[in-house]
Amino acid sequence: SPSDTSTETTGSAALLERARAVTPGGVNSPVRAFRAVGGTPRFIASAQGPWLTDVDGNRYVDLICSWGPMILGHAHPAVMDAVQQAAARGFSFGTPSENEVALAEEIVRRVDPVEQVRLVSSGTEATMSALRLARGATGRSKVVKFAGCYHGHVDPLLAAAGSGVATFALPDSAGVPASSAHETIVLPYNDVAAVEAAFAEHGDEIACVITEASPGNMGVVPPAEGFTSALRRITREHGALLITDEVMTGFRCSPAGWYGLEGEPDGGAPDLFTFGKVMGGGFPAAAFGGRADLMARLAPDGPVYQAGTLAGNPIATAAGLATLQHCTPEVYDRLDVVAHTIADAASVALAQAGVPHTVQWAGSMFSVFFTGDEVRDYDGAKAQDTAAYGRFFHSMLDQGVHLPPSAFEAWFVSASHDDDAIGHVLQALPAAARAAAAG
Ligand code: PMP
Repeated sequence: SPSDTSTETTGSAALLERARAVTPGGVNSPVRAFRAVGGTPRFIASAQGPWLTDVDGNRYVDLICSWGPMILGHAHPAVMDAVQQAAARGFSFGTPSENEVALAEEIVRRVDPVEQVRLVSSGTEATMSALRLARGATGRSKVVKFAGCYHGHVDPLLAAAGSGVATFALPDSAGVPASSAHETIVLPYNDVAAVEAAFAEHGDEIACVITEASPGNMGVVPPAEGFTSALRRITREHGALLITDEVMTGFRCSPAGWYGLEGEPDGGAPDLFTFGKVMGGGFPAAAFGGRADLMARLAPDGPVYQAGTLAGNPIATAAGLATLQHCTPEVYDRLDVVAHTIADAASVALAQAGVPHTVQWAGSMFSVFFTGDEVRDYDGAKAQDTAAYGRFFHSMLDQGVHLPPSAFEAWFVSASHDDDAIGHVLQALPAAARAAAAG
């Protein structure tokens, strides 16, 4: 069983029991509960560089990296210094402060089409606010999203699709009103014909298309050649906006995120961008932005309301700014090396054990699908052998490598993954691949 483990986990198990008494499922974000893979989630006590240490003293090479933010590794000295200096000056002012300006300038400098940003505290807030701005700017209410793309737990963006052409979605969560889901049209990813059909029927009611710049939340499924350009063309033809969600890809796939890697779609840049994760350096900071004329519709200049007590928090912005300033070309080169070394070794080990798999890439962002077929959309991702992934995951965990506890996630690396940490991963892979094969 997946909970059979050679690792001592009594400390984590005791904390989970305490946590379950006071917190639903014992966790503050569902994937942390290990429901997809079984077993005891590890309570982490500290982290340094590429290593996590749990409350029982076990050490793991971290391939989650807080689901993206820790691109420089944990407790990076320069970020630590910035955070400590900021904290010494006070924790939150509720007034404007200089770090907010500097972080906004850094984002605007990196991502060409983004002239202005508004800072918020989570990726969910960023997409929620971008959606409201798109609706406010167009005076329309419907939104097109793609199955398998996650944009945070925003009511109308939590809808999932049936298969096939345009379907008005059913809510994917209790508590999302049908009226909210009814405003959402969910389409299969990478399917231009489905987008054309949805716009042919509802073109004058659609405020925007929102898409992950290169999806990472069903595993890594990059846009097919021309897909992003098609979204740009179709939205423009119908007076709708295009929102590209770079919460995961932003400042990871390249200095300017996926946009910097794929380049400008034919017909021009997306209208709105959302960012999070890396730009907060492990603290709660996120942003949405775009052309100045569009952003001018936000309060206090315009009629679209949006606000936040902790938005632009001085410690979060200090951490984010220091992180971005240290995301140098050398860091991106190192991410490439780390990612390719680990992914190639995983592929070799799985092939030797006879486990069907496919590695897919978005810059240095990658995931290993436990299916032999190329994955172009959510249905393809769901064809995975998730039980085999569970066995693989637990073998890696027992050997001191912490992968994401779900087959539908990217594997995140950092520039701090040195040869020692990589060697540790490489050593663990063959046994984990054999465990995966031993279904
Ligand atoms: N958009 C994307 C593409 C994401 O990956 C995520 C988080 N995984 C979000 C939005 C939501 O961000 P947060 O968890 O900070 O609310």
